[in-house]
Amino acid sequence: MRPLSRPPWRPRWAERDASEVARYGLGSFCAACEMPLPQEAVAWHAGDGYFPGRRATIVEWPELLALCRRCAHAAHEHGPPPPEALLPHRDLTFTLAAPSPLRYARDDDGRVSVVAQDGRASVTVGYFALNGLLPRDPGPEVDDVEAFRLTVDYVDPRPGLREQAWKQAEYYAGEMRRSDGEERGRLLATIHLVAANTGFWSVWATVLWQSLQDADVLETALLPPAAPLRAGADAVAAEPAGHHAFGGTRRDWLPGAAGGEG
Ligand SMILES: [Zn+2]
Repeated sequence: MRPLSRPPWRPRWAERDASEVARYGLGSFCAACEMPLPQEAVAWHAGDGYFPGRRATIVEWPELLALCRRCAHAAHEHGPPPPEALLPHRDLTFTLAAPSPLRYARDDDGRVSVVAQDGRASVTVGYFALNGLLPRDPGPEVDDVEAFRLTVDYVDPRPGLREQAWKQAEYYAGEMRRSDGEERGRLLATIHLVAANTGFWSVWATVLWQSLQDADVLETALLPPAAPLRAGADAVAAEPAGHHAFGGTRRDWLPGAAGGEG
């Protein structure tokens, strides 16, 4: 779960769709499972767990997140998030600089799971059903079960997409190990594009770090350029993701970040 640093509200966002604003501000990915959301997203108010109206508002902005339909479904089923749930705009949900509450791991069968490392993380995985919802029961009102299974609502795509991202990340980590010089720079740019496309940022961070142990690779491929320090209260304010696929990402998860274990 990519930890987020929310850019300040822009007045022009008031005329726009709330889910678009959430994606423009924080990236076109589900804030919970990290799947890419290039076309549609569900706007969600993480404070009270409701689904805001169509237009973005400055009042809702501090708690506004974009979710995929599956995470939104799970959140809806569970009601408002319990106080112990980790939320990416409040908590350091994923880090390589210290023990991470949420880890990403692949088992011998190739399945990639979100692994909770403490009680709060466990609540979070359950709340969003991050390791997958069971196929929905067609129910007695469905006549044509085969047709039902072809509908988008039947299978939860998140675990499969997470596995695909892991495979891509592994492939590119291997390419990085074999490259040097200028080729390395080109490869890093490619990794950034592919990761933006597959989504599952935490999977990319996990695999690239396990394979390469190179914080510069993570920074170049998975973070926007560091904002120049400015005087005043907005010195650490993030730029909206509209300017960079992974804009709106916190920086203190990086190995070697201030306060981290290196
Ligand atoms: Zn999701």
